[in-house]
Amino acid sequence: MTKDELRQRLEFYQDLGIKTVFRRSTLERTLPTSHQPPATVVSLPTIEPAQDSLLSIIQDIGDCKRCRLHEARHKIVFGSGNEESRLVFVGEGPGADEDQQGLPFVGRAGQLLTQMIEGTAAKEGIPIKRADVYICNVVKCRPPENRTPQPDEMEICGQFLYRQLQTIKPKAICALGSTATKALLGTTEGVTRLRGKWHKWRDIQLMVTYHPSYLLRPYNQNAKKEAWEDLKKVLHYVYD
Ligand code: URA
Repeated sequence: MTKDELRQRLEFYQDLGIKTVFRRSTLERTLPTSHQPPATVVSLPTIEPAQDSLLSIIQDIGDCKRCRLHEARHKIVFGSGNEESRLVFVGEGPGADEDQQGLPFVGRAGQLLTQMIEGTAAKEGIPIKRADVYICNVVKCRPPENRTPQPDEMEICGQFLYRQLQTIKPKAICALGSTATKALLGTTEGVTRLRGKWHKWRDIQLMVTYHPSYLLRPYNQNAKKEAWEDLKKVLHYVYD
């Protein structure tokens, strides 16, 4: 394994929340197999395949039952939009409409996201529509009652999100709300503090902004202006 491959593998494990890896001791490596202690079987997540594609990710997901979220889902919501987009939006997880249709952000929050993308682009003279970007979520199955995904659900499903992002390799990612921010930056710092500034996911620029569902609440109208400013920054960075 080259140094670069090793670095990528360690980054991948880090993204999954695995903070410590151990090297087998020299003794263990040199002992004849018959003298070695019984191996503990640790099932590590698969590393991104060398020739990954969105299709092979869909195939690997299959009829996923890796976590409890499969129990009540109707459809797996993989993602939609331009698969070669320079910009990817990442939300939290499907709601009721998304679960029925198998598409991300098609409910009320989705309508607002569409307006935000298309309205800001039109105002800034950037010729893009929603279909020109790619949209997906941290988890691909609807959490019951739209609750926040739990850490193990995020970790299990996160491996597929990372593969999607690594395959699309956009110029920028826009993390919508705290779940996407936590999944991609590994921080519990609030959106209010992180928004509006550039961060990085691996070597890709990442902007944090408010989740559209948060902006739909009448008492969060000031945040709307800020979200529009964040989006303006993202669109100019990606499309200028
Ligand atoms: N909220 C999300 O985070 N994602 C969706 O797809 C819909 C609503």
